[in-house]
Amino acid sequence: MRNLIADLAAISGQSHVLAEPDDLAGYTTDWMRRYVGVARCVVRPGSTEEVAEVVKICARVGVPMVPQGGNTGLVGGSVPASGPPGEAPVIVSTARLTTLESVDQVAAEVTAGAGVTIARLHDHAATAGLRYGVDLASRGSATVGGTIATNAGGIHTIRYGPTRAQVVGLTAVLADGQVLDGVRGTASVSAGYDLAQLLTGSEGTLGIVTTARLRLRPAEPAVAVALAGVDGMQQAAQLCSQIRGEVPDLLAAEYFDAAGLGLVLTAADLPHPLPGTHAGYLLVEMTGPADADYDLERLARAGLPADTAVAVDRPGQSALWAYRERLAESIASAGVPHKVDVSVPVGELAAFRAELDGVIAAASGGADASVVVFGHIAVGNLHVNVLGPDPADTAVDAAVARLAASHGGSVAAEHGVGRAKTGWLHWSRSQAEISAMRAIKTALDPDGLLNPGVLVG
Ligand SMILES: Cc1cc2nc3c(=O)[nH]c(=O)nc-3n(C[C@H](O)[C@H](O)[C@H](O)COP(=O)(O)OP(=O)(O)OC[C@H]3O[C@@H](n4cnc5c(N)ncnc54)[C@H](O)[C@@H]3O)c2cc1C
Repeated sequence: MRNLIADLAAISGQSHVLAEPDDLAGYTTDWMRRYVGVARCVVRPGSTEEVAEVVKICARVGVPMVPQGGNTGLVGGSVPASGPPGEAPVIVSTARLTTLESVDQVAAEVTAGAGVTIARLHDHAATAGLRYGVDLASRGSATVGGTIATNAGGIHTIRYGPTRAQVVGLTAVLADGQVLDGVRGTASVSAGYDLAQLLTGSEGTLGIVTTARLRLRPAEPAVAVALAGVDGMQQAAQLCSQIRGEVPDLLAAEYFDAAGLGLVLTAADLPHPLPGTHAGYLLVEMTGPADADYDLERLARAGLPADTAVAVDRPGQSALWAYRERLAESIASAGVPHKVDVSVPVGELAAFRAELDGVIAAASGGADASVVVFGHIAVGNLHVNVLGPDPADTAVDAAVARLAASHGGSVAAEHGVGRAKTGWLHWSRSQAEISAMRAIKTALDPDGLLNPGVLVG
């Protein structure tokens, strides 16, 4: 153990190898405080070459590794499992991989280090009059590498697709320390398998992403943000499709229920956003040319209900977004939540919601359970949060995931499988698909050293 730490320190410097319990705590506990693991140490390499050396040393002595970016993951994939210290992994943090090259204006692409935060990437793209297509409430901490590893979605998936659609190429270190150098100046490559796409969504189980070449989009001003009171998820989904018919440039469509709004009003000390109270709320953001005529009249034509707040100025838009953006932290401030990210075909949302409370009550074993549902409704991605049942008891989580799968949905929509959902993968993926994933894992990481226990179990 002492030799390993000394070897890692020789690569990255003494100050970038952390082994004291107080220093490790922030790296071994996840954002929700639901997953707490054990690590030998944390190493923070400063370049792809250093990552490769770190991996070679760990591989030589058979020590597993957990790649970690901003540690905002919500399925336990970013922290090690608990277990005997002698078998504990090394956490490989990307905190120092923060190089951000100048924007390539001609290609509308940028090359970014894995540890660059999504907020910094947005600011950087904006200086070139462009935008990055993935945005999420964790933008201040979530990283390029972490969002690639989870194929993160977020609030703009409806317009730009998930992270997968933004990745042009990437550099990654494989389990034996080999460097896959796939950052090239062209997106047009048909010479073999697309390894960047294979690593996207692989949750740190196939390689450690160190650099990525990312697609940027023209900056489109948010012209109007509207928050409408609705009588539930079905009306919200119907409104969404109506608005999309009327306003082609829809940038975001988010749903949250009254329980979620109640928690935000208390935790964030915000006033109620509308004159009336409703079972649910739909927030939509429309974009288009700066002179587009997205005024109240046009919104009304798109069929939004009378109790709708509309903001066309930046401060007003941010104020409406706050009700959606502060949901996750408001839920976490009320307790340790069961947080289940699922997708359901949009046509099944109402039926899924109708069954949800009963399924949760049955799985809660008599514990009081409060249910908060929010999500990216236009793509059928819901986050079901349950407060009350023992955080260590996964019966509620399994019941929600099973219900989504029974409606033709997925047990994981945008957060990944992590440690939380490995046992439920077969509800959404066929045996042949799971066998193919295991074969890929075995081929690239035969000793199972990268993020053991995550995704393929
Ligand atoms: C308030 C809040 C809001 C959120 N909203 C959204 C949302 O709208 N949409 C969404 O998709 N997610 C959302 N998330 C979840 C989370 O932010 C995403 O999963 C994000 O992609 C994680 O990025 P990270 O840098 O924090 O990665 P981490 O949490 O550190 O790691 C996540 C996974 O990626 C792996 N990993 C990290 N870096 C690398 C790397 N360089 N190479 C290989 N593997 C790596 C880890 O091993 C782990 O399996 C939210 C989380 C919070 C707390």
